[in-house]
Parts: sequence; C-alpha cells; structure tokens
Amino acid sequence: MKILVINAGSSSLKYQLINMEDESVIAKGNCDRIGIDGHIKHTAYTGATVDMDCTFPTHTEAFEKLVEVLTTGDAKVLDSMSEVSAVGHRIVQGAEVFDKTTLVTDEVIQKIDDLAELAPVHNHPHALALWACKKVIPETTPQVVVFDTAFHQTMPEKAYMFGMPYECYEKYHVRKYGFHGTSHRFVSMALAEAMGKDIKDLKIVSCHLGNGSSITAVDGGKSVDTSMGFTPLDGVIMGTRSGCVDPSAVTFVANKLGMTPSETSDYLNKKSGFLGISGISSDNRDISAAAAEGNKRAILAGEMLRYEIKKYIGSYAAAMNGLDAVLFTGGIGENSDDLRADVCRNMEVLGIKLDENANAGLRGKLAKISAPDSKVEVWVVPTNEELLIARDTRDLVEGLNK
Ligand code: ADP
Repeated sequence: MKILVINAGSSSLKYQLINMEDESVIAKGNCDRIGIDGHIKHTAYTGATVDMDCTFPTHTEAFEKLVEVLTTGDAKVLDSMSEVSAVGHRIVQGAEVFDKTTLVTDEVIQKIDDLAELAPVHNHPHALALWACKKVIPETTPQVVVFDTAFHQTMPEKAYMFGMPYECYEKYHVRKYGFHGTSHRFVSMALAEAMGKDIKDLKIVSCHLGNGSSITAVDGGKSVDTSMGFTPLDGVIMGTRSGCVDPSAVTFVANKLGMTPSETSDYLNKKSGFLGISGISSDNRDISAAAAEGNKRAILAGEMLRYEIKKYIGSYAAAMNGLDAVLFTGGIGENSDDLRADVCRNMEVLGIKLDENANAGLRGKLAKISAPDSKVEVWVVPTNEELLIARDTRDLVEGLNK
C-alpha cells in the first residue's frame, strides 16, 4: 500500500509518498511559492531529482505538478495515481470538532475552513489544499485528515481552561488546544516500544524542541497537559515566539508602542523568543555559536529555554504524580546534546541522572541517555510526523474496507 502524505501551508505543499509495506519513503519534496510564482523540488528513492521553476497560481496547479513528477519523467515513481491507496493530510487545528483522524468529505473540509478563525495562518490554506487535492487526485482515492490538536483532546477541563470569564470559552472557544500532537503521539509510542513497556503503564514528559517547541505530559498514552495553548505561542521560549508571558506585559507594551492587535501578535510571534532576546538569530545553532563566543544575550536565551524546560518537567511530574521517562525530540531535542545535558543536570530530586557519555555527540538517533541507576529513563526519540499520518491514514482506510 502506498500513502501520499501532504503538509500544506499558504504558499507551500510538502509531500512524502510512503510505501507502507516497509514504511520507506518512495519520494518526497516541496511545491513552494504558491500564489507568488512557483518552484518544485522533488527527490525519488532512486536519487533522481526534479528542481524547477513553475507557475503555481493556486494549490491546484501545485497538485497537478506533483502528479506529473510522480508519474512521468526521470524521477517518476508511479505509473499512475491509482497506485496511491490514500492521501493523508496534516491539519493544524481541529479544535473540539475533531478529536481523531477523520475521512475527508466536503462537510469536513468546510468545518476545517470554519475553524480558520482559531488558526488563521494554517486552516484556510489546509482547506484550499484539500479542495485542490479533491480536484486533481482520482475521486476513488480516499483522503484523510490528521489533526495536530487531536492528541490533546484528552486533557481534563482543569488543564485546558484559562482563568478568564467563562463566556470566552462558551462564545469564542478560547481554551488550551495544544499542538505538535502527532509528534508527541508518535514519539511517546516509539519510546514505550523502545523501553519494552506498555504505554498504558508509563508517565512520560515529551519535549518536542524545534523552531516551535512544546512539552507534553503523557500519562498512560494520553495527553493530560501540554505547554502550547490557544495557539502555538504559549509555553517555552522558541525561535521567534515569546512563549508564556504575563498578559499585562503584552497590553503594556502594545500601549507603549501603539501597536494594533495584529501588530502585537506579530511582535510576540515573529520578533520575540531567541531572536528577540539575543538580537542575533532565531536558530539554536547560531545562538549556541554566539554563546560559545561569550555573547551575553545569546547565553541568556539558551539559559531561559533550559530553565523553562526543567520547570515543565518538574510540574508535569507533579501533575502526573510520577515520572517514568523524559524524551527529547525535534531539531533541538534530537541534536543539541549540550541542551539535554544542561536540562538534566541537578534533577536528582526527580530521579533524573544522565549518562553524559551516552548523551555526548548523539544526534538524531533513538537512544537511551540516562545512567543505569537513574530512576527516570531519559531518551532521544527522533520524530516522524509524516509516518504517523501515513499509519493513521492506512488504519482508517483499511477499517473502511472491513
Ligand atoms: P521546526 O519546528 O521548524 O520543525 P526543527 O524541528 O527542524 O524546526 O528544529 C529547528 C531547530 O533545530 C533550529 O533551531 C536548529 O538550530 C536546531 N538544530 C538543528 N540541527 C541542530 C544541531 N545539529 N545542533 C543544535 N541544534 C540544531
């Protein structure tokens, strides 16, 4: 069975074609600059590539080009699109409407679009891509949507409500939704398997640290709390996002700088975080390099992230009344051994003791990095959201045929 996984943004359409027999990637790429001009980068498993400028006025033309490169030319991997059993789409916001992976119908696409108010940057482009895909992919090929928020729908009310007037929730659906759910679900399941334990018996803190970062308390395989909130702005300090701040600081600064609500949102989402604190870069590698040269603000940015992660681990251990494992994933979590070492240092109170040798130099590989006598196991678990979307899509489609 071959599954096409789509991750669509407003101007891009990333894809992977996955062979479910061995979960290998048959082809992957990105249609970029949709609505501007257009460019496709495509790599087949054979190593053959396509890298060319195109004309992509809308997502429809991007899908047409995708079909063309998959089925014709030097980098083709399919004789026809009918070889694709199903298409799985990543969707950022499912709110309370979608708590699980769902088969696409016109009504489902409309509901995803209706949620755009809660995720303006993502959901409308997702809906556009879903309509476009329906037009271009054979009608008989089922499409499935997998939501970033769905995994967190198991959070209890006390964890997802904000202390604002109740009407904010009732009228405007303001609450914590959490994001990166597909990643947290994938890595927590992979960790349980690596530990040889049933996930139902584990209390895990999952740290997904990348340009966007979130930390989730996974108790018995269910998300019970997470650091991102109503939007992906909440939680720890990120590349350009502030993370959690006192809301009064926001209204105070907006007032001082005369910013509109949308300018204020940009200020917190695009100019804050590592970039705003360091004044250098949003990228962890640049921050680490500057910190190594003694740049005080870069050192501060790195220290803030490490301190905040420690606090989340401690608070989630308290929330779950226990902790069996901590895992690190995402670009920073998988690659930054110094960050992992700093986070796990002086955490004996929680039963966390790192094996410095196992951790040092470890990048992007599944491995245990805690000491043999550590009560809490610490692991690096590479994430693979596309694979989980493909697995979910397969499971749902196979269920339909039963
Ligand atoms: P996104 O949230 O956009 O998916 P990623 O998960 O790819 O982001 O993470 C990007 C972050 O990972 C960047 O801050 C980058 O500096 C960091 N990163 C990537 N490789 C390394 C590395 N070898 N060492 C330290 N940090 C790294």
